[in-house]
Amino acid sequence: MKKHFAPFEKKIWLASPTMHGPEMKYMQEAFDTNWMSTVGENINQVEKQVCELTGCGYSVALSSGTSALHMAVKLAGVKAGEKVFCTDMTFSATVNPVVYEGGEPVFIDTEYDTWNMDPQALERAFEMYPDVKTVVLAHLYGTPARFDEIRRICDEHNAVIIEDAAESMGASYRGVQTGNLGDINAISFNGNKIITGSSGGILLTKSEEAAAKVRKWSTQSREPAPWYQHEEVGYNYRMSNVIAGVVRGQLPYLKEHIAKKKAIYERYRDGFKDLTVRMNPFDGENSEPNYWLSCIIIDEEAMCRQERGDLKANYASERGKSCPTEILKTLAECNAEGRPIWKPMHMQPLYSENGFVSSETGRDNGADIFRRGLCLPSDNKMTEAEQDKIIEIVKSCFI
Ligand SMILES: *Cc1c(COP(=O)(O)O)cnc(C)c1O
Repeated sequence: MKKHFAPFEKKIWLASPTMHGPEMKYMQEAFDTNWMSTVGENINQVEKQVCELTGCGYSVALSSGTSALHMAVKLAGVKAGEKVFCTDMTFSATVNPVVYEGGEPVFIDTEYDTWNMDPQALERAFEMYPDVKTVVLAHLYGTPARFDEIRRICDEHNAVIIEDAAESMGASYRGVQTGNLGDINAISFNGNKIITGSSGGILLTKSEEAAAKVRKWSTQSREPAPWYQHEEVGYNYRMSNVIAGVVRGQLPYLKEHIAKKKAIYERYRDGFKDLTVRMNPFDGENSEPNYWLSCIIIDEEAMCRQERGDLKANYASERGKSCPTEILKTLAECNAEGRPIWKPMHMQPLYSENGFVSSETGRDNGADIFRRGLCLPSDNKMTEAEQDKIIEIVKSCFI
């Protein structure tokens, strides 16, 4: 029998919003000045401050990270039937916008060193599909991808990089902030991201003209006429000034949130140093993550039997071994929230007919990381004592 723990009285979340106070002040300001709309000072400030924080020239505040990615795909000019290379092991919102525009995602396998797009697999994909013009690259869990290699390969093929920095605000690669690496970039302010507006997102670009286009498209594509004149399809994607108040109140706390997330990551790493698991890795020489989520991957030898169908999972408990299903179940029984690694897109029924390219035939790193990995509670408000108990719970699964 594995050890039993008394559940946490208060639920330990994977990543919940961390509010400070100024958020309320700016929301109140929107109310008091009656800018209860998709126009207002909070929006202007969010756009200005996110440009300053990332170093990117122009930004457009939108209703979500997904809408920002949609506008990015539209800016890239993806046409119906056109193939687009996409990060495979990620949230579906990275790739769905390609489909909104009629494009066809082709998934690029994951590499073990950062859990992001494998440059070797990308190179191979261009050999197979030399005409591809757009690459959607996500930085998983706040860990920057191998950007230099990916940029070099994309430049060789004249491909545009859409950077999905939804999870990685504040993370940097060789001193450049994510959200300012790609040609068109997106950040999310969804409720569980490192900076949140409860919802919201932002598109970033170096081109003033591109930003102006997105501003127009996201507000129903009105032409400058006295009446509602339209030449293009429009969208209602603009951020609300109330939501922007929350984001504005949060932005000064980005550094503090990252410091806390980093401390959580390091406490797990130290706590698990004698266990047969490793933390989600990053390239410490070239990048600084924002440590949004702390994850582990179980050594192959320490994996018990685990079977995952389309909607259910099972495992066979074994001495000295465990698996994500057992650990997540044990955490849930203790009132703590973990999560499986994003199930790779090429394994999703929705995308099972799409292409998938790995660094060599038969390889599938993403499926392997999905099978052996999981996200641990990474909430900024978790105390050290609570985290120590999480560590003990995880350890107990391997007894
Ligand atoms: C959260 C997220 C998105 C989507 O952002 P929303 O604001 O929720 O629409 C896109 N990509 C990744 C990798 C994400 O984690």
